[in-house]
Amino acid sequence: MHTVPNFDRIGEENAFAVLARANQLASGGMEVINLGIGQPDFPTPPHIVEAAIKALRDGQHGYTAATGMPELREAVCADLHRRFAAEVNPDNVIIVPGGKVTMFAAILMFGEPGAEILYPDPGFPIYRSMIEYTGATPVPVPIREDKGFGISAEETLGLITDKTRLLILNSPANPCGGVTPKSEIDALVAGLANHPDVAIMSDEIYDQLLYDGETHVTLLDYPEIRDRLILLNGWSKTYAMTGWRMGYSIWPDALYDKVRKLAVNAWSCVNTPAQFGGLAALTGRQDAVADMRAAFDTRRKVVHEMLNALPGVSCILPKGAFYAFPNITETGWEAKPLASALLENTGVATIGGPDFGILGEGYIRISYANSEDNIRRAITRIGDFLAG
Ligand code: PLP
Repeated sequence: MHTVPNFDRIGEENAFAVLARANQLASGGMEVINLGIGQPDFPTPPHIVEAAIKALRDGQHGYTAATGMPELREAVCADLHRRFAAEVNPDNVIIVPGGKVTMFAAILMFGEPGAEILYPDPGFPIYRSMIEYTGATPVPVPIREDKGFGISAEETLGLITDKTRLLILNSPANPCGGVTPKSEIDALVAGLANHPDVAIMSDEIYDQLLYDGETHVTLLDYPEIRDRLILLNGWSKTYAMTGWRMGYSIWPDALYDKVRKLAVNAWSCVNTPAQFGGLAALTGRQDAVADMRAAFDTRRKVVHEMLNALPGVSCILPKGAFYAFPNITETGWEAKPLASALLENTGVATIGGPDFGILGEGYIRISYANSEDNIRRAITRIGDFLAG
């Protein structure tokens, strides 16, 4: 069979392959602790679950508008207004089946042979995979430990050429847990004035997971780029709803109809009861969000302290999301062999840094979306392995 070459260039997320291997080892009797997968270990808050069940019972079984239920799009705007005083028109909001779908749509819209797309490295692997799928040239924006794993505005602007179509940003970030400071975002946006044809996709899916009293800086705060800003967000991480496949994005007027038509062609609409769950999440009480954040914060400190006590390992304190990205160069191991040896020998699943980009060598990703007890036992096992 002849398939189009684009499909031979498509990549994947190794976190899912690690999960499969971890499950295989577990079914063979090994006690596996998974610090590989990036999903909250909490159940979805009950009032959200109840709202979706009620929707099913009430007969909400049909399609909604392709762009999502109007009341849900309004709730998204109200939530953004409540949290950031952002003014967003519901006519610019689309509900999509998960956070990933926005990057898929945005990269499809701007990627073609000859075009360049800037994306963070280390970064969420699907950015690069989708860029390669379209035939565009992926241009990595370095995310460096000595910059606290945030981007440098100067370095990013220096990578823009007359072929650049799209700049992908992600803060708080996967896999490093970095947060780009406001000063860098200010400088970046100022510099983007010289590149009016470059669109920006800001992946803010971890925007409620910042610590130490830091507040999130949303790109929505910059009116000068709103006409070319695509904002990616969703319910997966904030409300522990990864399996519901609920995301949303904000698109400028010039692009909105294009993404609406893609929705009509590809997914028609998002699962209707899930949209009711999403509505309850945004309009209901937010205490579960704060509770989960507090739990992640405690674990973050445990992970940071324990990792730094391991031989050859150093780790900066993550500022956001639920990932730590320890530097393992002094252990003498390369990252992917170490991640694999840890899984096979100690039952601890982590992800090798190179799975997030070339600059990930020398690091492994630890997801602390797991219980404190499991985290303590896992890092103790890693320490015994490294010492042994
Ligand atoms: N963006 C980033 C940075 C992520 O880490 C993830 C999930 O891990 C996503 C987007 C995708 O989220 P979803 O599961 O809602 O598709």
